[in-house]
Amino acid sequence: MSEPTVVYRFKNGLYINLTNRCPNLCKFCIKTKWHMRFEGYNLDLEGKEPSASKVLSLLNEEMRAAPVKEVVFCGYGEPTMRLDAVLAIGRALKKHPQYPSFKIRLNTNGLGDLINGRDIVPELKTAVDVVCVSLNAENEALWRELLRPAPGYEQGYCAVKEFIGKCARAGFDQVTASCVQNTGADERAVRALAEELGAEFNGREYLDD
Ligand code: SF4
Repeated sequence: MSEPTVVYRFKNGLYINLTNRCPNLCKFCIKTKWHMRFEGYNLDLEGKEPSASKVLSLLNEEMRAAPVKEVVFCGYGEPTMRLDAVLAIGRALKKHPQYPSFKIRLNTNGLGDLINGRDIVPELKTAVDVVCVSLNAENEALWRELLRPAPGYEQGYCAVKEFIGKCARAGFDQVTASCVQNTGADERAVRALAEELGAEFNGREYLDD
């Protein structure tokens, strides 16, 4: 298989593959279905997670080649498993000569507080502009059924809702809560919950083979 990809271009952005670790095993996760590949990139880090300095050097190289509209902490994996790297990279990007012509976005499952054992929102505020949280269910039982959290994260649904609410109040440029479609979740109810928490709603297509 080809070398693992750490930074890749997709649409108008640069995406950072910081880790493959995640405390969930979502029924709809594409990483296993697509064999850790995305748009021709091999995102299987094989446990060799890149350092913040390596990521920054790859981002700089790409940004010198062509400007971007956003830089996204994405995956395959949950970026807040490597919160220190997210903060170091995000804070360095905010000093980049091209900033703020691009936004810094975090895609997350919303479990960052549980993963790190503290309220991470104030720290995130210093490093990212936009937070996109996967909400995916209108109640805890369905969340557990669809997201299949690892032991220790079974109560995560409340933590995710709390995280979304805190982000919405923290003054990021944008906070969205999303729901993958056609999983059995009631999209209208998830939208209502997202809006009640102060976030914008984003319905996401169920990606299949
Ligand atoms: S939270 Fe994201 S990376 Fe983790 S299993 Fe679910 S879809 Fe996959």
